[in-house]
Amino acid sequence: MVVGDVTTGTEVLVIGAGPGGYVAAIRAAQNGLDTTLVDRDAYGGTCLNYGCIPSKALISATDVAHDAGNATEMGVHADPVIHTDEMQEWKEGVVDQLTGGVEKLCKANGVNLIEGEATFVDDSTARIAHGGDGQGSESIEFEHAIIATGSRPIQVPGFEFEHDPIWSSRDALDVEEPPEDLLVVGAGYIGMELSTVFAKMGVDVTVVEMLDGILPGYEDDVSRPVKKRADELGIEFNFGEVASEWEETGEGVVVTTEDEDGNESTYDAQKVLVAVGRQPVSDSLDPEAAGVEVDENGFIHTDDQARTNVDNIFAVGDVAGEPMLAHKASKEGIVAAEVIAGEPAALDQQAIPAAVFTDPEIATVGMTEAEAEEAGFTPKVGEFPFRASGRALSTGESEGFVRIVAEEEAGFVLGAQIVGPEASELIAECALAIEMGATLEDVASTVHTHPTLAEAVMEAAENADDQAIHTLNR
Ligand SMILES: Cc1cc2nc3c(=O)[nH]c(=O)nc-3n(C[C@H](O)[C@H](O)[C@H](O)COP(=O)(O)OP(=O)(O)OC[C@H]3O[C@@H](n4cnc5c(N)ncnc54)[C@H](O)[C@@H]3O)c2cc1C
Repeated sequence: MVVGDVTTGTEVLVIGAGPGGYVAAIRAAQNGLDTTLVDRDAYGGTCLNYGCIPSKALISATDVAHDAGNATEMGVHADPVIHTDEMQEWKEGVVDQLTGGVEKLCKANGVNLIEGEATFVDDSTARIAHGGDGQGSESIEFEHAIIATGSRPIQVPGFEFEHDPIWSSRDALDVEEPPEDLLVVGAGYIGMELSTVFAKMGVDVTVVEMLDGILPGYEDDVSRPVKKRADELGIEFNFGEVASEWEETGEGVVVTTEDEDGNESTYDAQKVLVAVGRQPVSDSLDPEAAGVEVDENGFIHTDDQARTNVDNIFAVGDVAGEPMLAHKASKEGIVAAEVIAGEPAALDQQAIPAAVFTDPEIATVGMTEAEAEEAGFTPKVGEFPFRASGRALSTGESEGFVRIVAEEEAGFVLGAQIVGPEASELIAECALAIEMGATLEDVASTVHTHPTLAEAVMEAAENADDQAIHTLNR
């Protein structure tokens, strides 16, 4: 079908169907607003198609294989074999189920769906170019727009992703045949999660990182157990080095790195995964045509109601800045939709958790002890090591700890840092505590099921109040 140059109208135009955009569209429609959602690629955005979900699927699948093959202590003797093609098929099934679900949910809520690339014409009109030859374009007049165009991986000059041996995270997640050896450039959360996946597939993984450690931004004692496990998995780290060039050899590539004194090192690998961060996608949208300001890095700044400098245009998710996380995108999407519907919604950045799905996992929310001090609090801190948790020991995963940070006087919970099994799940209780203004006493006096990992959160709160039963008080 050829779509002619027609103009339609909508109350809310949402551009981008990732976790920021599709959630915003559903909430806007739930609020009775005529809502149109446009995406040039796939429902669910980066998160469902090329990010959170496929990466977690591969992490879980390779964990099953690794754990089964390393459980002789539990009396389990197995030698699992990974069939990558079957693993990919399963992963794709998970992705398809979720992306299909997003489409169905949008339709069921009355959201109009359009496939195509949106570009602003002015502050009340966007042009949608439909993909494919002769598909044409259409114009949409909107009362409000929500920009949710997400982000893309940063390219290192000379290491462009169109060269076959150079992988983005998306290429790595689609691997059909694992390479024998993989060089990973970048030890941030995506580099570390994928290094672990490939190491558990039996690939020789080498990481080069320009900083002097893994997972910048996390406290040393939080990232240490992850580095220790990565070392045990045989991942080799080279810190203080920047990848500068690569050359094809008959068998793969040789990558040259430089340290700050200009000393060069070389690494042979079959593939190179570049994971040095992500940058906002705002260029193709021409936001300037609508008067929307974009900073020098491509981010669109918003206020605590997700509103840009243009009154009727909102921005949510990765394109609106850090933290670039799916749940932050969704929360901003809900706020934008509710503000447009006339509700008094606003963001509370204090309680946005973050998780790294390495082995073991890391999860944090709110303030660290140092941040609490910097903010003028006298912090009170409690910890509970997983080696003292009956449940952790009975799963064979007892590395790490829960740390809870509170303010001294009334004991209000300010933050938490968890490294260990299921940290990504456990952090939810700490986020709830911050969001509700709960105190250490509230957390400590909540009866937690035994034996569970969640008891570690309760024990950390008891420890902060010198009431610990299963550890010595600090
Ligand atoms: C490997 C990897 C693992 C990750 N793991 C996690 C995780 O475990 N937890 C977590 O919270 N986050 C994770 N993330 C980050 C997460 O994916 C993003 O924070 C999230 O997807 C941002 O959502 P968004 O809605 O802002 O944008 P996106 O999900 O990027 O969606 C943007 C959408 O906009 C569309 N679009 C762009 N421009 C236009 C245009 N002009 N017209 C029409 N459509 C357009 C795109 O096609 C895309 O579908 C991961 C990312 C990666 C790459």
